[in-house]
Amino acid sequence: MAKQRILACPLCGETQYEQSVCKQCGGKLDPDGLLLAESSFGPWYLRDEENPFAPGMTYDLLVHKVREENVHRFSLVRGPTTRQLWIVAKRVPGIAHLLGRCHKCDEHVDPTSLSCPSCEVTFGGYRDRDSLGLEEAPPKKVTTTGVSSFLGDTAIFDTCSEPMKLPEKSPETPRREEGEGNISGPGSPAFRVLQRSIESSKRKNRILMVALGVVSLILILVLMNR
Ligand SMILES: [Zn+2]
Ligand SMILES: [Zn+2]
Repeated sequence: MAKQRILACPLCGETQYEQSVCKQCGGKLDPDGLLLAESSFGPWYLRDEENPFAPGMTYDLLVHKVREENVHRFSLVRGPTTRQLWIVAKRVPGIAHLLGRCHKCDEHVDPTSLSCPSCEVTFGGYRDRDSLGLEEAPPKKVTTTGVSSFLGDTAIFDTCSEPMKLPEKSPETPRREEGEGNISGPGSPAFRVLQRSIESSKRKNRILMVALGVVSLILILVLMNR
């Protein structure tokens, strides 16, 4: 029986049986879907209780959400212009003016305007995908850039989180199974390695015996011909 793999969604972390669409966040989990998702990752967050573990998004994706009316003036947003602190969208530089408010003085503004007619603060976009906007950020880590792979089920078993169930076994069964050469249970890879090494040493012995036989035969023939 093929074992169904248990995996964590790389986008939201929900643990589930392997499938192409995450049951929690709806993310497409095939390589193309993950590549597309990665291209939307960035330092901006929109507080969403239905998907609290979603990765950050690019400025452009957040602007898209504003245009789609998924962000309103009192939505909670954090990003490079808020020093990653949650602030209502109408106070967030880069976002507030798109919602018709000056982030600084709360004046009504046209979403297309470049500055506030009242306090003269300028509006702009923040497209740097890698900048969290923290002045004294720790050095950038460059080793963990890829996210487009699943955690294997063994890696999940190693964690201390919600225990995943291994097939139940009473203590005496494994020994009996080994004796019968049953290799379908958990832990079988190690057993198979052992079996393989025993087989290969048996094979070596057989080759040695044959070689010995041939050498003795030649020796006997040589002696007889003298
Ligand atoms: Zn997910
Ligand atoms: Zn203003």
